[in-house]
Formats: sequence, structure tokens, C-alpha cells
Amino acid sequence: MESQENPPAHPAALCIFPARYERHNFSTMTHHEFRAHAHQLADWMADYFENIADYPVKPDVKPGDIKAQLPAGPPLQGEAFEAMMADFQNIILPGMTHWQHPQFFAYFPTGLSGPSVLAEMLTAAMGAQCMIWYTSPAAEELEDRVMEWLREMLGLPSDWVGVIQDTASTATLAALIIAREKATAWAVNKEGLYTAPRLRVYASAQVHSSILKDVRIAGFGEDNLVFIPTDDNYAMIPEALEQAIRNDLAQGFRPACAVAAMGTTSSTAIDPLRPIGEICRRHGVFLHVDAAYAGAALLLPEMRWMSEGMELADSFVFNPHKWMFTNFDCSAFYVRDKAALLRSFEILPEYLKTPEDRLVNNYRDWGIPLGRRFRALKLWFVIRSYGVKGLQAKIREHIRIGQWLAQAVDEAPDFERMAPVPLNLVCFRYCPEGHYSDEALNRINESLLQRLNASGRILLTQTKLNGRYVIRLVAGQTDANLEAVQRGWEMIQEVARGEEGRADAFNPHD
Ligand SMILES: *Cc1c(COP(=O)(O)O)cnc(C)c1O
Repeated sequence: MESQENPPAHPAALCIFPARYERHNFSTMTHHEFRAHAHQLADWMADYFENIADYPVKPDVKPGDIKAQLPAGPPLQGEAFEAMMADFQNIILPGMTHWQHPQFFAYFPTGLSGPSVLAEMLTAAMGAQCMIWYTSPAAEELEDRVMEWLREMLGLPSDWVGVIQDTASTATLAALIIAREKATAWAVNKEGLYTAPRLRVYASAQVHSSILKDVRIAGFGEDNLVFIPTDDNYAMIPEALEQAIRNDLAQGFRPACAVAAMGTTSSTAIDPLRPIGEICRRHGVFLHVDAAYAGAALLLPEMRWMSEGMELADSFVFNPHKWMFTNFDCSAFYVRDKAALLRSFEILPEYLKTPEDRLVNNYRDWGIPLGRRFRALKLWFVIRSYGVKGLQAKIREHIRIGQWLAQAVDEAPDFERMAPVPLNLVCFRYCPEGHYSDEALNRINESLLQRLNASGRILLTQTKLNGRYVIRLVAGQTDANLEAVQRGWEMIQEVARGEEGRADAFNPHD
């Protein structure tokens, strides 16, 4: 038996406290060194923004190329900052896709701006936990205020309350959980789904994949997500929603939630909120509005037709990290019924009780994670730097660019526009002269997209609409501009119309 005085050394202790302990290898960056490196990085970042158009939009790498350059194990001794920076330049940067590149037209953008990046640096430096008022009072009160500003800026109902989440996926999950709890009088939180009736969720057939994932996670089961058909514009058909709810009621199911899309990911289709909202009200169905990308356009009074009927909804999510120049992550989640939100998420363990609990918003009770980053700071910096008018001018300009491209596509005899363009996403395909089946056109356009993207001079993505392969071009990253889109459109036409290899010869600066 081991003696009490001499317990076996823990293996970790042997390597942490060896006799050959070398002091200098354990010291991290001094404040003096930090200051110098921070200045270098500020220069690096400014150069990056200035020269971003010179980088290939997408790196020319194969799976495993980057990992093969990284040592199989961690370093035993600390390394110099210069060594890390060199590897960042030589290994990491050549393997990055440059989302802020002016020829980046893929997916939806994830915008940023100088003030946003700088605020994020301050947030990182303070490293504060913003889970409750007590742990960072200014963070909580700034979030209150900025969410009030944003609510007014977007024209949302003035009695709604907002909170910042990491992503729209998380915000929609929160909405589905509130809907679930409301539909079962908060029984599921207590008893689980064992005794609950069969709950149903409705969304358009064009809805974002995150809804399916959230439906699974919230316990509804994907078999209970009912896809509602869409019209020629890819927007939900309200009558079909009504019919689906009636069918479900007749079968003894309980309709719990509908998700309306304001700006679908495939084509920015806008579901008609008022008729959908009226149906939901009539049947006591919780209505969540997913405006992850398009919500930014509500800054413009002339785009508020999209939110007509919003007062009938129960919750709304919009990502400033997509099209409002606030770097990832920052998702604004609004709800009409704050009490229902809190009742769904509130938990008050002894170790988190504070004297102010009844006077303040403790945002840990407004969503899923306990720990929270200080995200309001960057949103505040962005809104103050641009001003409402500055933000409006930028969004308006991006929509104007989208409209320009829509018209250019319409005027090109061998291109076909594939969906309405309410904003700045244009869906199109190449249709060369002659009679091609849809399948042939699918192959032609898939190959066109591959050739374009392989050039490294432009990045586009695809979707399928009614089984047809469609190329998407979104002009919404912070520096999106007409010249860049015109250059992109020229390149698309040249590459499409023939000469294999032209994509490589094309110079975006011509
Ligand atoms: C991007 C997007 C999402 C998902 O956003 P995350 O913040 O990445 O979770 C959801 N819905 C729509 C319509 C989107 O465009």
C-alpha cells in the first residue's frame, strides 16, 4: 500500500515541474510585446482591406493541403509571435476564401466594417462574460439600448423586445422552443415530449435548412415539419398553409408553429406575412419570421412592404452579420411575448442569484447558452459610424446593383433569369441557342459555375429551383459596387459563350 506521505506523482506533474524548468519558455507575451504586435497587426489588417482585390477569391487548394503543412503535434516549448505570424501568412492565408473580396458573390455575404472589427478587438480584450447584468452591467444595458434602436430602425412593433444571439439557427431554435412550450402550456419543459400531443411545424418548401435542424433538436421530429407549397415566385401559398393546418387538426395533431421566410436563401422569396399571420392567429399557431439575410432591407421605408403584417407574428430573426456590416457573429432576435420567452428559458440556480434580478434583463434567460459574448458593442459602433442614413444609403445602393444585374440578365438573349429579384440576389442560368433539355442545361450551368470559380477571380454558388440548376449572384458584401458586378457579369458571359480557359485569361482589373 502506498504511504500517505508519498503519494504517486501524477504523470502531468512530472512534465509541468521538471528540474530543468526554464523560466523564459513559460512566459507568454509581455505587455510591451503585446503593444508592438498589436500595432503590427493593425497595419496588417489595414493592408489586407486595401489590397483584398488582389487575392484570389477562393484558394486553389485540395482537401488536406493545409493540414499537411501543420505539425502532427503541438510544440513543447513556446514559440515566438513572429513564427506564428509567418505561418499565418504562408500556410493559413493562402488557404482562405476571401469573403470581403469585391468579386465574392457566393452564398449570402458575411459583412464587416472597420468600426465593427475594432469593437470586436475591444470585446476580445475585455473578455467579459455577459450572461447576466451583474457580470457586465454596461454590456447588458447597451444590448437593451441597441436592440431598441434596431427595432425602431427596422420598423418592428414597438412593444417587442430583442436580444442578440450568435446565429439565426440558434434564434430560430429558441423560437421553436417557445412555440412548443406555448402549445403544451409549458408541459414539455417539465415532462418531456412523452405525454405531449403530436406537434406540427409549417414552413415553405423553400425554407432554410436550419429550420429542419432546429425542428429535430427541439424534439418535434422532422416528420412533423410540414412543407407548404410555394407559388411561381417561390413564396409560401397561404391557402396551402390553411389547408395543411386543417388536415392536421382533423387527424388530431396539434399545429404549434409556422416559420415564414422573409428572403429565402435560394432566391430571396418573400412569404406574404399578413395572410400567413391571420391564419396563424386563427389557429393559435406561433409565427416565427426568418429574415436572416433580407431583414437589413427593412432599414429602407420603401422595402417595408416585406414586413406588412409583422404585428401578427410572434418572433423575428435578422442577422446584422450578413448584410449590415457587423462581423460574424451577431443575430438579432425579437419576440412579442417576453413573458413566454422567459418562462421557456428561465432557470435560477442559487449561484447565479443577484440582488438586481427583478430589475434588469438577464440575457442568459433569453436563449440557449448561459455564457454570452459582448456582441452589442460592435453593433453599436456600426450603427453610430454609419448612422441610419449611411446604412440606408449602402443597402439602397446594393439593391440598385441587384436591379441593374437583373435587367442585364433579362437583356442578354442567351441568359435566363430564374426568379424575381426583390433585393440584390439574382438567380439566372445560361441558355445557349438551340434546344436543350433542362438536364442538359443543368450540366451546362454546373460546368460554367465550376469554370468561373476555378479562375479564383470570382466566386458564385448555385441552387436548384423547380429542379433546375441555377447560378446565384449576391451583391451584398460591404464593398459591393456596380463596377465589380459589371466586371463579374462580363466574365460570366465570356466564359459561358465559349472559349474554354477564358476565365483564367480574364483580368478583373481591365
Ligand atoms: C443564413 C440563413 C440562415 C442561417 O443563419 P445562421 O446565422 O448562419 O444560423 C437562416 N435562414 C436564412 C433565410 C438564411 O439566409
